[in-house]
Amino acid sequence: MAKINKNYLKLQGSYLFSRIGQKVREYQAAVPDAKIIRLGIGDVTQPIAPGVIRALHEAVDEMGKSETFRGYAPDLGYEFLRSVIAGKDYREQGCDISADEIFVSDGAKCDCANIQEIFAADSKIAVCDPVYPVYIDSNVMAGRTGAFDSAAGRYDGVVYMPCTASTGFVPDLPGDAPSEVPDLIYLCFPNNPTGAVMDRKRLQEWVDYANRHGSVILYDAAYEAYISEPDVPRSIYECEGARNCAIEFRSFSKTAGFTGLRLGFTVIPKDLEAGGDKLWPLWARRHGTKYNGAPYIIQRAGEAVYSDEGRREVRQQVSYYMENARIIREGLKEAGYEVYGGVNAPYIWLKTPEGMSDWEFFDYLLTKANVVGTPGSGFGPAGEDHFRLTAFGDREETKEALGRIISL
Ligand SMILES: *Cc1c(COP(=O)(O)O)cnc(C)c1O
Repeated sequence: MAKINKNYLKLQGSYLFSRIGQKVREYQAAVPDAKIIRLGIGDVTQPIAPGVIRALHEAVDEMGKSETFRGYAPDLGYEFLRSVIAGKDYREQGCDISADEIFVSDGAKCDCANIQEIFAADSKIAVCDPVYPVYIDSNVMAGRTGAFDSAAGRYDGVVYMPCTASTGFVPDLPGDAPSEVPDLIYLCFPNNPTGAVMDRKRLQEWVDYANRHGSVILYDAAYEAYISEPDVPRSIYECEGARNCAIEFRSFSKTAGFTGLRLGFTVIPKDLEAGGDKLWPLWARRHGTKYNGAPYIIQRAGEAVYSDEGRREVRQQVSYYMENARIIREGLKEAGYEVYGGVNAPYIWLKTPEGMSDWEFFDYLLTKANVVGTPGSGFGPAGEDHFRLTAFGDREETKEALGRIISL
């Protein structure tokens, strides 16, 4: 008799976004002329840059001619893309990473979710709270957690590291006692949902901790392109010793608007080991067995992001979003809110007003300003009493939304 993987039954429903959608639909039905503005979206809205579109068209044409047609891509990615990534994202930034340490994929979400496969089933994992849910859910599916404790809002058997105003929205280091040391540590900076960053000195402390204890840091740098301050590291490999303890994930999604095109990559240094065994060959084997490569035309589009023209264009898109972030951040401050993020990330994290829960604040914004955001508790219990707004919207709508919030 076939049986299901019962771990899937531990997963909590995608309650957050379905509840938001339902509330917005109900309100719109009750007040049909309300002009609702959505500042809750986690997806880009600007079209793909012209230089990237040109590369896409050229690659499509190559596919239509027998001399230039391409079939299966190499498992780990085309050399033209891996070498431009290693050169421009790493070596030019002073990080010692080579092209054969880059694994090209169709996005960072799958890589963040799949990476746990190459580690032991009994690995102890640590995540930030609030958190991007993929890191936890993928470990729940793999049976690396206990049941969901609804009173606590957490899975048993997972180390949650609270990131609140009192910790500056970065986690405190776990203890050094053997029982406190996690095997796998998920970090995401600049952070979704809080917009917080870890400075270079702080990240170095994490690298030193991991090297001291033989832990591996799984570093999600999906928002690297949004960094504007010089003491914020763009890559974990800017830290000394990170080659011995860290895997890094990057994505073209937020950097260049590829959420619909799909392209990302994972960096695994050749010398990185877990418990004395190398990780690079395992991920290469996994890629080769379970994945047949990102499409040629998309890899060519990714290459174009690194040309002078492509870089200029995608920087403009990031600036567009970051100007929205500034408008939101400053508008909220003017309206008297306690505001975080929005300087090195397209996310603004605000404290809900005294005495209002995050869901009460959601209703308040929806009904009084017709603005939609995301309640912080949806990202973990430590997100309670906070609220996320995103800078991925249209400029005029963003201004209009903030005008409404200020005049409440
Ligand atoms: C958007 C996002 C990603 C990117 O995922 P893709 O699959 O590359 O689109 C990764 N991590 C975080 C935290 C994100 O918010």
